[in-house]
Amino acid sequence: MKTALLLSGGMDSVSIAWWKRPDVAITIDYGQKAADAEIEAAGHVARLLNIAHEIIRVDCSKLGSGDMAGTDPSAVAPVSEWWPFRNQLLITLAGMAAVRSGVPRLLIGALATDKVHADGRAEFVEGISDLMALQEGGIVVEAPAIKLNAVELVKDSGIDQDILAWAHSCHVGNYACGRCRGCLKHYNTWSALGWTPH
Ligand SMILES: [Zn+2]
Repeated sequence: MKTALLLSGGMDSVSIAWWKRPDVAITIDYGQKAADAEIEAAGHVARLLNIAHEIIRVDCSKLGSGDMAGTDPSAVAPVSEWWPFRNQLLITLAGMAAVRSGVPRLLIGALATDKVHADGRAEFVEGISDLMALQEGGIVVEAPAIKLNAVELVKDSGIDQDILAWAHSCHVGNYACGRCRGCLKHYNTWSALGWTPH
């Protein structure tokens, strides 16, 4: 079945690209601060893995919140990088591209540890998959790493360190800040793997 992957260029989606080898990778600039670095990272990984790469640009920065939007977190934010309805937005935009390309299966990079976000939970993935499947194109949404943490995903995927090194994990900008939750997760994962962080 022809498959697309939402490839943000972060560690998790890069590992899934290696693991599942989708037909097409979709990267979205929705107005997040790190968009340029994410597109560059995703594009490089897609080229290395010989995966077609589609870039979508829709500026939603005025509707964002927190680290990724460069604003203070919303009053209802569970963590500093929370952006309202982010996964719902990204899945919808990727679905629009997938329908046009005749792709019936969309993969996203949610992990077990993303359950701090309502839209990172298994129930959300199942719910939005059912909702997408009701509509034209009959797209199903799957999160192959939903039962794994970041270290388990890297190990299970078997990704090469040299490929993972291209991932951009910082939430706040195009250069790793070294302090945000994205950077800390990146360093902690590399450290747990016994690899030298990039
Ligand atoms: Zn950072």
